[in-house]
Amino acid sequence: TRHFSSVPSPQSNSTEENGFKGHGMLAPFTAGWQSTDGSYVYDIDGKKYLDSLAGLWCTALGGSEPRLVKAATEQLHKLPFYHSFWNRTTKPSLDLAKELLSMFTAREMGKVFFTNSGSEANDSQVKLVWYYNNALGRPDKKKFIARSKSYHGSTLISASLSGLPALHQKFDLPAPFVLHTDCPHYWRFHLPGETEEEFATRLANNLEELILKEGPETIAAFIAEPVMGAGGVIPPPKTYFEKVQAIVKKYDILFIADEVITAFGRLGTMFGSDMYNIKPDLVSMAKALSSAYVPIGAIMVSPEISDVIHSQSNKLGSFAHGFTYSGHPVACAVAIEALKIYQERNIPDHVKQISPRFQEGVKAFAGSPIVGEIRGVGLILGTEFADNKSPNDPFPAEWGVGAIFGAECQKRGMLVRVAGDNIMMSPPLIMTPDEVEELVSIYGDALKATEERVAE
Ligand code: PLP
Repeated sequence: TRHFSSVPSPQSNSTEENGFKGHGMLAPFTAGWQSTDGSYVYDIDGKKYLDSLAGLWCTALGGSEPRLVKAATEQLHKLPFYHSFWNRTTKPSLDLAKELLSMFTAREMGKVFFTNSGSEANDSQVKLVWYYNNALGRPDKKKFIARSKSYHGSTLISASLSGLPALHQKFDLPAPFVLHTDCPHYWRFHLPGETEEEFATRLANNLEELILKEGPETIAAFIAEPVMGAGGVIPPPKTYFEKVQAIVKKYDILFIADEVITAFGRLGTMFGSDMYNIKPDLVSMAKALSSAYVPIGAIMVSPEISDVIHSQSNKLGSFAHGFTYSGHPVACAVAIEALKIYQERNIPDHVKQISPRFQEGVKAFAGSPIVGEIRGVGLILGTEFADNKSPNDPFPAEWGVGAIFGAECQKRGMLVRVAGDNIMMSPPLIMTPDEVEELVSIYGDALKATEERVAE
């Protein structure tokens, strides 16, 4: 059966760069997935796959956590819905906000606003930052700087922030108030002889140059994923965030950490900000917030920002922004339970335990003649295929090397994300050591088969 779906397929064989071709709203999809068990999903023919992408980087607790199901069911019986408008909300949304504020320790945070997705979270960030600058009497400070190859979502504003050409072409995007600066991908963009630290310095200098060219008084905020996800899994080069944070601070520009993928243990720390010593003014979250069992996103803002918004001297009136489902009680009840599990089971620590084998096991194949680079941290990993192991020698797109690898993985019972010649993995955080071994072994066999097919 064919039907129309808005759900992107994680095992797409698209060969277009960044993998968005065929993912459109109206693309025809085949009904595929039937059930799930821990780190595995089953298709409608009963075939079992190890889900190396955790859905879309999101089912952090795997597919069958009974406590999340129970939390949802109990809340559905008690109060399936009530809204959060006019200063009154439900207990689950209040409890979740308090818990998030106490869990985020990279710096003190002041307030939480709930959304239904990561895209809505980033859109809300933009409006909130504008409102804040208006309240401070500086309405011209409204441009945003994001980075090439970033992914921040698919709505008009979050797609504008994203630095992937496929999200802009044909949509008259990015919006004019969004600027893009360098992608911090050392392997691809460093100059001959340049160290990681020197590369980071050059990028920070370029950022400063852009700010000065535009006028610092026109730049509101800088947004970054601690580790870039959909752009190909790109961890920052050494000293990058330290240098970039110093620049934005110097010009009174807010720092937004897009933690939609990295929050709740993915890198081996509770938040990506902990990993890289980021002290953001605003944070976006979604995905693992509920382990994806129900849609929910959130933003957190610093006390300095919430104080301005709530101060007596703010004459702007209410922040006119909110969704019917902001703070949905069922989503919040599930998220509270997910946060309890992350803490009780010390999921970041579990990630620290199992990720060295995951990283080293896969990176052991980096010598393959078709692999350009394998990169990652914690439980997130990207592989980029390239000819001659060089970032300047991509394989011809029509060879579909990434797609071949994806198909070879599927044949052996594993799902990976294919985006052109980039392969991405971001498995459930609850993976067992045996599952890590299975993943590494399938990866190795699929790579060997891909090498043979490329050599033909
Ligand atoms: N930000 C990042 C870093 C993401 O990876 C994503 C989704 O993959 C989003 C934002 C958008 O989130 P959503 O798909 O929930 O709108």
